[in-house]
Amino acid sequence: MRKIVVIGGGAAGFFGAIECASVSKDTEVLLLEKSARLLSKVRVSGGGRCNVSNSCFDPQSLVYNYPRGMKELLGPFYSFGPAETMQWFESRGVMLKTEADGRIFPISDNSMSIVNCLLNEAEKAGVRINTEESVLNIVPKSDGTFIIESSKNTYLAHKVLVSAGGYPKTESYNWLKNLNHRIISPVPSLFTMNLPGNDVTKLMGLSVADAIVSIPQYRSESRGPLLITHWGMSGPSVLKLSAMAARKLNDDNYKVKMNVNWLPELSETECSEELFSLRKGAGKKSVMAANPFNLPRRLWEFIVEKSGIHTETGFANLSNEYIHKLCSILNRDEYEVKGKTTFKEEFVTCGGISLREVNFKTMESKLHPGLYFAGEVLDIDAFTGGFNFQAAWTSGWIAGKAIADALKQSNP
Ligand SMILES: Cc1cc2nc3c(=O)[nH]c(=O)nc-3n(C[C@H](O)[C@H](O)[C@H](O)COP(=O)(O)OP(=O)(O)OC[C@H]3O[C@@H](n4cnc5c(N)ncnc54)[C@H](O)[C@@H]3O)c2cc1C
Repeated sequence: MRKIVVIGGGAAGFFGAIECASVSKDTEVLLLEKSARLLSKVRVSGGGRCNVSNSCFDPQSLVYNYPRGMKELLGPFYSFGPAETMQWFESRGVMLKTEADGRIFPISDNSMSIVNCLLNEAEKAGVRINTEESVLNIVPKSDGTFIIESSKNTYLAHKVLVSAGGYPKTESYNWLKNLNHRIISPVPSLFTMNLPGNDVTKLMGLSVADAIVSIPQYRSESRGPLLITHWGMSGPSVLKLSAMAARKLNDDNYKVKMNVNWLPELSETECSEELFSLRKGAGKKSVMAANPFNLPRRLWEFIVEKSGIHTETGFANLSNEYIHKLCSILNRDEYEVKGKTTFKEEFVTCGGISLREVNFKTMESKLHPGLYFAGEVLDIDAFTGGFNFQAAWTSGWIAGKAIADALKQSNP
């Protein structure tokens, strides 16, 4: 009997093991998980609700949510994308719902629906699971098989799927070093920007629905909701920016200038023209009271003060110079980022196995035939919104299917 060893009992490992075991009947699929708990990230994900995927169904658009993996995931998403993920779970009795922002959750709002489904499917397919068994080494043999050395045993495997997730430190990849795969050093992704001592933090709790945040020196920008916190700035736009610039920010020790455009719909010139025209009919209203762009009141007051405009100044008396100053801040409000805070809800690692050495049609290693990779162990990570799990389902499914196909070919 052929033996397949799947390393890691997370989203990618389960998908790979289930697909492979349900297709190849005369094969033993053994899943080894180092911790005592299977699917631990799925359990806690999405605040316990598990944001399984996203309703961005077009692969061409979907890949833009992957700062690492954008090019490589395009083909795989045509084979198994969010629509196939939905179908996979719903055909197994887990009904899903799509929220207004595109995030997909189980209707139960409980990640255990996903966990239980995966556990049941693995059992049905005959996947053998050992927990508290850590793989310490993979030794490729000259006949194309592998020796898997774990904390408890030694196995011979005809095919191996490495789905061990991301690690925050380069040394944690040492157990894979025998394989000579290039490891892109891991750095955090998806974090909020700290602005220590900046007065804007006094507005904590305030959010705007649409802002552009950018780091001009990296030419990175992102648009979306922004949230001011106790420490600095957060919200989807900032998290997205952190993912886009994850490596450069790490290189610069999280010290960088960040701009906020509070009025993404207007250019600086359009903003001044609007204020020149509104000034004419402003009557006795003060600039503070005017709030012509309907920004959250406290934010408008903050920006007016930051422009150096006296609180009592009447809008009708506002000089051209101050109008320009105001518009420059509304359009390019500068902040000194000093440090980061990892977003506890969705922490992912940027870095991992280099994508160049993996064939994305099968997820097979280009260095060792018979060895496959799936999930976050690869140098793939995404923005928030269910995209990280989608990459795990897609790569796990493709690897599982490719292993089953390869076994069929070698022993039809
Ligand atoms: C708190 C939190 C919430 C999240 N919420 C979401 C969300 O709602 N939506 C979303 O899309 N993404 C979310 N993510 C990201 C998502 O969880 C990951 O991208 C995803 O779990 C990656 O799946 P994986 O199977 O590749 O890795 P993992 O889920 O990390 O699984 C890898 C498994 O391998 C095991 N392992 C590691 N090394 C070994 C070894 N040597 N031997 C044996 N076993 C080993 C680990 O213990 C682990 O169980 C969240 C992440 C966190 C931390």
